[in-house]
Amino acid sequence: MQNIKVRFAPSPTGHLHIGGARTALFNYLFAKRNGGSFLVRIEDTDLNRSSYESEQVIINDLKWLGIYWDEGVDVGGNHGPYRSTERIHIYKPYIDQLLKNKDAYYCYCTQEELEKERKLLEEKGDNPKYTGTCRDLTEEQRAALEKEGRKPTIRFKVPENKVIQIHDKVRGLVEFDSNGVGDFIIVKSDGIPVYNFAVIIDDYLMEITHVIRAEEHLSNTPRQVLLYDALGFTKPEFAHVSLILGPDHTKMSKRHGSTWVEEYRDKGYLSEAVVNFLALLGWSPESDEEIFSMEQLIAQFSLERVSKNPAVFDNAKLNWMNSQYIKTAPIERITDLAIPHLKKAGLLEENITPDKYEWVKKIVHCMRERISFIAEIVDKVGIFFNDQVEIEEGEALDSIKGEQVPGLLEVFAQKVNEAPEVDEEFGKGIFKIIQKETGIKGKALFMPIRVALTGQPHGPEMYDIIAILGRDKIIKRIETIKNNI
Ligand code: GLU
Repeated sequence: MQNIKVRFAPSPTGHLHIGGARTALFNYLFAKRNGGSFLVRIEDTDLNRSSYESEQVIINDLKWLGIYWDEGVDVGGNHGPYRSTERIHIYKPYIDQLLKNKDAYYCYCTQEELEKERKLLEEKGDNPKYTGTCRDLTEEQRAALEKEGRKPTIRFKVPENKVIQIHDKVRGLVEFDSNGVGDFIIVKSDGIPVYNFAVIIDDYLMEITHVIRAEEHLSNTPRQVLLYDALGFTKPEFAHVSLILGPDHTKMSKRHGSTWVEEYRDKGYLSEAVVNFLALLGWSPESDEEIFSMEQLIAQFSLERVSKNPAVFDNAKLNWMNSQYIKTAPIERITDLAIPHLKKAGLLEENITPDKYEWVKKIVHCMRERISFIAEIVDKVGIFFNDQVEIEEGEALDSIKGEQVPGLLEVFAQKVNEAPEVDEEFGKGIFKIIQKETGIKGKALFMPIRVALTGQPHGPEMYDIIAILGRDKIIKRIETIKNNI
């Protein structure tokens, strides 16, 4: 059997989009599932928009997701270099071959001339493709145009009346009529080959067997197929994965929320949750399970189960999934992720002592069931950090107006003062003891103490709150309340 080799070929023109991350993931899963290899190369032929910073962001985001490659940028390999702009000398002989075989030609049309031609065709209701003005220029005509100082592009001569067939692994048979494809530019006037050309040379030389990429590249594929044929290259298999749509079924964009992997990481989504979620955007497992580790995804992934239909990005589902991972991850990991958010919010000082770390860990332990992503913790932990308890209007305020309240708080404070340890165990036992001693029970017992300690009628378990606040803070809060009722 052929050795499977796939690639992810981002253009470094921005951040890693969730769609790009999904493409990378599907390639990675496909390679791992089939004992193949995975390559990452950088398609930076768009000089104006590409940057090294963007490349670094993309590489870091892929690694953060747990997607690693066997060959390519950052790791090296036998088919480098792995940036298009470093491969110009490699493309050159293939361009020469096309020119020599008259499969390509120099085009001297200026931007303005092309624009004019396009407008005229559109006005007539014709397909606005290049009409081939420079297809059959003689040497003399070329020399004259060069003399005018025109810098030529190189165009591929698209054969007429050809049906271009693509047996797409996701979409099935897709056919294009070559008459709809105008002679297209393969080398720009600055001498840099365009994506459509560079990509096929790279895929061929890097021995890529399957091109798995976003649906938006399906319309590029007939051009690429024509180039493969003209150069006599064996074509890879193609699989074009459907778009990701926002909840309103339009293409997922900033309007719908975060679209970059980095934004999810910064908000405190766990990489496993993002991977799990992305995998289910377009691929469906055989069972109706929803939680999958990377290993489980690798064991089950197949292109046959990648859907032709667009996937809809469901933020609520991502939040649910992330909360599942937050609940089960080691507590230290969640604490370490929470600390920068707490620092940023000014709740924690820059250097925290080991004791303080342990204290934060307790907070994270009791709050992690209540958050969908780590950044949310900031809004929920004020009760532990604030010196002043602010009592919410309504249920909270009403509950401390009861006539039993002063006596109850007195007893509670006394027990706290007397306890050898004010910890979770104390918090678990104390209410029964007070109930026995005072006869106060149920809401009349719990609520005033909860409100005295937190200002709120609802929240984490009382024993967690008691253990986290500790003796001094509890006494202080009870004193304050007692003076105010
Ligand atoms: N460089 C292209 C992009 O970032 C990928 C093209 C391909 O996979 O063939 O969209």
